[in-house]
Amino acid sequence: MSSNATLALITSYDQRTHSTDTTFSTPSRPLPARRTETRGAYHPQVKMSRPSEAQTAFIKSLLADVIELDAEQGEKLRTLANEMWTDGKLTPGREGGASHLIENLKDLRTALRDRAAKAAPTAKREVPAVPAGRYAVNTDEGHLAFYKVTVSDKGFVNVYLQVSDDFQRLSWTAALGVLRKIMEISPLEASRAYGHGLGCCGVCGRTLTNPESISLGIGPKCMTRFGG
Ligand SMILES: [Zn+2]
Repeated sequence: MSSNATLALITSYDQRTHSTDTTFSTPSRPLPARRTETRGAYHPQVKMSRPSEAQTAFIKSLLADVIELDAEQGEKLRTLANEMWTDGKLTPGREGGASHLIENLKDLRTALRDRAAKAAPTAKREVPAVPAGRYAVNTDEGHLAFYKVTVSDKGFVNVYLQVSDDFQRLSWTAALGVLRKIMEISPLEASRAYGHGLGCCGVCGRTLTNPESISLGIGPKCMTRFGG
């Protein structure tokens, strides 16, 4: 069942306001004691049919998974589960309401996990669009630092800190910080800062000898990438 179908389950369910039954709201709380002796005694019109403890525990763990994947949808379903519990609609047994809810939650969890798996590569591509090249930006300590950015054929980005003629690959967290700083001042300006700082082309790193290129901080061939 798709997540839409599960949402239909929510909306089709009678959404009255219920008093504070929080069976599925606090996963660590022990289950309420089974009050077999009062079942039907004070409210004979309501048959309080409860799922098994194993079913209840499974519903709780499924709800926790779904909430982790999609908080909004998960919270709606937790409310629904609480209402079904209050109304005695989480009936036990293989054909019961609890089993039906469990199947829905399992399908939803699968759908949400698939969605998350598909979204992951997209998120990876949301790297700041810094082209391969050389850049200089200020560190958090306020001094200029020199970097090399590489982009593989498959689009994987690496950032290296240049120390003299050595290049030290940065962790991804540090790399992202540098890429964002480059985007803040623009790749062109960050490349020019590199060229000015080291006297070589701020894209390919080759030595600049032409006075115009030296003042630009970028060689003529590499300048074409910036439309120059
Ligand atoms: Zn160059």
